[in-house]
Amino acid sequence: MSSNLFDLSGKVAIITGCNTGLGQGMALGLACAGCHIVGVNRRSADETQKRVEAQGVKFLSLQTELGNTAAFSSIIQQAEEHFGNIDILINNAGTIRRENALEFTEKDWDDVIDVNLKSVFFLSQAFARACITKKRRGKIINIASMLSFQGGIRVPSYTASKSGVLGLTRLLANEWASRGINVNAIAPGYMATNNTEALRNDPERSREILARIPAGEWGTPDDIAGAAIFLASDASNYVQGHTLAVDGGWLAR
Ligand code: NAP
Repeated sequence: MSSNLFDLSGKVAIITGCNTGLGQGMALGLACAGCHIVGVNRRSADETQKRVEAQGVKFLSLQTELGNTAAFSSIIQQAEEHFGNIDILINNAGTIRRENALEFTEKDWDDVIDVNLKSVFFLSQAFARACITKKRRGKIINIASMLSFQGGIRVPSYTASKSGVLGLTRLLANEWASRGINVNAIAPGYMATNNTEALRNDPERSREILARIPAGEWGTPDDIAGAAIFLASDASNYVQGHTLAVDGGWLAR
């Protein structure tokens, strides 16, 4: 057994949507554990790049729109050309649309499902094919949500996508565990990022949410770094198909 099960020195992780929020928190966490980062974003990730490089590891920036699967094989290929091998994929990018179910549009359905669920499957497929071809171990970490476990309100496509992420995580683990690929997910609770700005700005919703969190405060991007390091490292080699809540106790209520 290694003396530091959580060490990621020399490993390479692709992280989608890491210019901000939870993706940035996980990029910095993995970088602190010695991991090089490939950031996949639809716009510049300069701030993340600077902060990752300050940890003494490398950052490759790739730009793409994740609502379109066309570029997925090329993302893996470019990352492999640059770093040789890729060890970890974190499917973090996600989006949300809020509207009553009676008024919800097909566009708001498709925009969310394409990024939150379809991209998770097809990017994982491209990554797994590369791992299996090269006979290398791989770690996939999907980002789920409290709405993988609960229904939510006014976010039908988001709930469908995040419930789908939990099921997909189990299915992929069933198919790929024997091929040396761990597939797990992290379900963040209520974290202070762009994604929850509308909720935090609504005094009544914000008060209701805080009252239900045993920890008594919103989480921050730093709060999920530890779970990401665990699921990316040898410490989790026998953990498969699990969705780990990092929620200040929300689900325990
Ligand atoms: P965020 O700050 O809004 O970050 C979302 C990231 O996804 C951004 O980098 C965003 O890019 C990227 N993204 C969105 N649509 C994209 C697209 N079509 N193509 C490429 N990138 C796209 O929110 P966050 O809270 O950190 O969210 C990260 C993940 O955590 C998401 O999957 C979210 O559903 C999940 N989550 C968040 C919470 C929470 O409380 N914050 C709770 C549970 C789950 P841009 O910056 O260019 O928009």
